[in-house]
Amino acid sequence: DKEYVGFATLPNQVHRKSVKKGFAFTLMVAGESGLGKSTLVKSLFLTDVYKDRTLLNAEERISKTVEITKHTVGIEEKGVKLKLTIVDTPGFGDAVNNTESWKPVVDFIDHQFEQYFRDESGLNRKNIQDNRVHCCLYFISPYGHGLRPVDLEFMSALHEKVNLVPVLGKADCLTPLELARKKKKIREEIERFGINIYQFPECDSDEDDDVKIRDQDLKDSIPFAVVSSNILVEIKGRRVRGRAYPWGVVEVENPAHSDFLKLRNMLVRTHMQDLKDVTQETHYENYRSECIRNMTL
Ligand code: GDP
Ligand code: MG
Repeated sequence: DKEYVGFATLPNQVHRKSVKKGFAFTLMVAGESGLGKSTLVKSLFLTDVYKDRTLLNAEERISKTVEITKHTVGIEEKGVKLKLTIVDTPGFGDAVNNTESWKPVVDFIDHQFEQYFRDESGLNRKNIQDNRVHCCLYFISPYGHGLRPVDLEFMSALHEKVNLVPVLGKADCLTPLELARKKKKIREEIERFGINIYQFPECDSDEDDDVKIRDQDLKDSIPFAVVSSNILVEIKGRRVRGRAYPWGVVEVENPAHSDFLKLRNMLVRTHMQDLKDVTQETHYENYRSECIRNMTL
């Protein structure tokens, strides 16, 4: 298949780092179950990271508490190697009692920092495996009126630890007008409640205009409205990833239908290295100084 994701541009995003070793990136998805997290991840990277997962029946799902699963795949494009790890946090929102449903997720993120911190002070510090979570796509329901208390709690628990990127799942459930209103409301609420989502880096004044326009457009797209599907449907002789409805086909990769491509380009082609840098320089550094403070007390 000629389809490719685009991370072959990664070497352009870094300067000093070695390309030969390959890149490691860990993406977490969180939010209520049933919003299309697994489907999105599959179509983002055109690879079935979940193929070895056993399906749970509805009953098991409901009684299940948050259980975190991790899948790693090695993918290669144009000679550039990417070790991609997907961390799924299934079941959130299913439980009758959602109090502190974020806790295991926060513990997981902290645990990766802890391991990195230990490795860094060890003997083999040149070959540390970076398992830290570089980005968390937080899924917001298209059915709610903006953010719910559980979303606020969850996002506040995570925002100082990981690059949070809000996503509106199943955007095909909304009309364009509803979608625009909902996005605006969610952006206002994120601001009002002081949630620190991932900030696209400020453009330098000498950056070219295309980059400025692109980054402003990314900011205005928050939360990314995604439609995902792993099914190919045919329209006018073209086979595209989409969802077929009696009134027509919603195309995943059509910018007029969803922000899927914008999100994928941001994650993979333009901001992957920045997400890694912010993880290192802000989130990990916060963790590290906290550790050192506690040790000296
Ligand atoms: P998860 O629990 O968040 O991982 O959700 P899944 O990816 O397992 O998807 C749950 C159901 O929603 C499946 O039947 C998917 O086919 C469907 N689904 C996934 N993405 C979309 C979407 O963008 N729009 C619609 N309408 N359905 C979707
Ligand atoms: Mg899932």
